[in-house]
Amino acid sequence: MRSLLNTLLGWLGLAPPRLRCRRAVWDAGVDELERRTLSGRRESGAYLLGSQRSDGSRDISEFVFYDDIDPKALDTGIVTIRQTALPRLWEVCRARGLGVVADVHVHPHGYGQSESDQANPVIPRVGHLALILPNFARGRPLPGSIGMYEFLGNGEWASHSGKGARFFRLEG
Ligand SMILES: [Zn+2]
Repeated sequence: MRSLLNTLLGWLGLAPPRLRCRRAVWDAGVDELERRTLSGRRESGAYLLGSQRSDGSRDISEFVFYDDIDPKALDTGIVTIRQTALPRLWEVCRARGLGVVADVHVHPHGYGQSESDQANPVIPRVGHLALILPNFARGRPLPGSIGMYEFLGNGEWASHSGKGARFFRLEG
């Protein structure tokens, strides 16, 4: 029912976005992701912590960088999430009173998912959202020019990249 309503509101451009983030938080986080690529020598990424609003949209309030949780996460040049790092992540979530609402990582060129991205969701939970920033996050890419993917389970994903700001709204 709610999803039908949201579909109708979506056609009218009135549906709440699935993701929101304050512009200052996004800009600072994306700048830091670019810095951590060491001038394009490796990929970087972050867990996006936040909370869910009553309208169902998720608010990103903080970037938690993979290499701060696991110093080896970026060592191979491709982001590697080791399960051993997760207890540390849950500790951070508990301390902040926040959950993981999405994740983000950078790619050297385009923002399509790799086979490995599809096979290894960072949080393997249906509805989890994964963002991909192109060009090592140079030039602060915004919704509309980034990859936005929703995990559907069983290795399946839906792309919402083309929805831009209707899916992911930067505010303030
Ligand atoms: Zn990737």
